Amino acid sequence: MSTIAFIGLGNMGSPMAENLLTAGYSLQVFDLDSSATQSVEQHGAKVFSSIEQVVQGADVVITMLPAGQHVRAVYLGKSGLLNLVSNNTFLIDSSTIDPESARVVAFEASAKGLDFVDAPVSGGVAGAKAATLTFIVGGTDSGFDKAKSVLQHMGKNVFHAGKAGDGQMAKICNNLLLGILMSGTCEALNLGIENGLDPKVLSDIMLQSSGRNWALELYNPCPGVMDNVPSSNQFQPGFMSKLMLKDLGLGMDAAAQSQSAIPMGALARNLYAMHNANGNEQLDFSSLFEFYQRQQKS
Ligand code: NAD
Repeated sequence: MSTIAFIGLGNMGSPMAENLLTAGYSLQVFDLDSSATQSVEQHGAKVFSSIEQVVQGADVVITMLPAGQHVRAVYLGKSGLLNLVSNNTFLIDSSTIDPESARVVAFEASAKGLDFVDAPVSGGVAGAKAATLTFIVGGTDSGFDKAKSVLQHMGKNVFHAGKAGDGQMAKICNNLLLGILMSGTCEALNLGIENGLDPKVLSDIMLQSSGRNWALELYNPCPGVMDNVPSSNQFQPGFMSKLMLKDLGLGMDAAAQSQSAIPMGALARNLYAMHNANGNEQLDFSSLFEFYQRQQKS
């Protein structure tokens, strides 16, 4: 079984790495924050203290980092990992970043004869723990095939969105829609409540009607309507509001690039910006429901 170097052992990276250990891979890990690697170390991973060390002898490198600037810093430049890995090392970045950074890394990798794919995920921390993530891959056909053989141990679905950067673009489109759906679901539920409806009854009605959507079906934002969702646990994440704002911002940047109109996405981004400015950025993104509740007239 091959050796994988995993860089970025945060909320998502740690459980993903643990699933690779369960699948039998030999795992080498590195994170700037040494406390982040404790859990995977207990599960059998070998911890290293630099990127240079962690990639030695690795057949595959997986990165799970916060944003585009971190990915560029880790891969590019004189001390970037593109200069440190051996020729046949296969590279996968699962961070959610701007498509342009993913394309630049793919281009630089290919110039050095290395295969790189962008493979952002959908499914959150719960999906990472349960190995049920959806991976959305951008890269060559052969890169996709190689990526799938590894990613299938951390997820349930592995899609090939297209060429380099297209995985990121598809992920951005999905989360733009999710932000809009969540905003609309909060808005409709709050309107019903303020007009005397029971949110559980209203949810059941909309679930069997044309307003049905993912948020209503699996992630109801109104506290008390659904068990085992963040809204019934003081909005503990889940998927943090600050990450939704980040992803909607990536959608705005992409729209500026292609001169696309995204009025609904822009509105959702602004709603999350205002909500987060009220100190909610660490809460689950379904806490936007409380933003609507605060707008009640006295
Ligand atoms: P996180 O902040 O918990 O983890 C990121 C880790 O990367 C941290 O431990 C940090 O110390 C480490 N890191 C940063 N720079 C580094 C560097 N130069 N070298 C080594 N380590 C470095 O973030 P997360 O929640 O795990 O998310 C990771 C990515 O996955 C993000 O791009 C996020 O948008 C995406 N994502 C997150 C979720 C979620 O629910 N949390 C869901 C889908 C996608």
